[in-house]
Parts: sequence; C-alpha cells; structure tokens
Amino acid sequence: MRYDYCCDKCGKIFEFELSMVDRNSLNGKKCKDCDDGILQRSYDSSSVCRVGDPYHVSGKKIDSGFKEVLQRIQRRHPKGNINV
Ligand SMILES: [Zn+2]
Repeated sequence: MRYDYCCDKCGKIFEFELSMVDRNSLNGKKCKDCDDGILQRSYDSSSVCRVGDPYHVSGKKIDSGFKEVLQRIQRRHPKGNINV
C-alpha cells in the first residue's frame, strides 16, 4: 500500500510503500527535505498537508475568509467602491 506522510514544517508530502502493519511506523521521523520538520501520516486523501504552524495556518484561513466576505459585500453593493 502507498501511504502519504507530510512534513509539519515545510509541508512536503512523501510517499512510502508500506505494509498495513507498518503504515504508521514513520510517524515522527525527521523530514529529509528541510531536515527540521517531523513527518506525520497524512490521512487526507486530498493530499492536502496541514503544516503544523497554527498561527500560519489560521492566518491563511482568516485571510481567505475575509476576502470572501468582502466579495459578498461587493456583490450586494455593485456600486460600492470596495477594492477586493
Ligand atoms: Zn520538511
């Protein structure tokens, strides 16, 4: 079976060919790429890697959400001059 692991620092995804028994055995291994992060099994089939910097991640989310709100306001007020 192929399992995805992702680095909690750089977010790089590594694919490993592992047996069912060993599927979680690489949790906590050091990332080969940035040599700083820790590999974590990625359970997400969409291959989206959640980088383990909570501030960074939530900051991104707030940003896109904020833009959405602005766009919604803009749609409701087509003559308004909100720059999105
Ligand atoms: Zn890394």
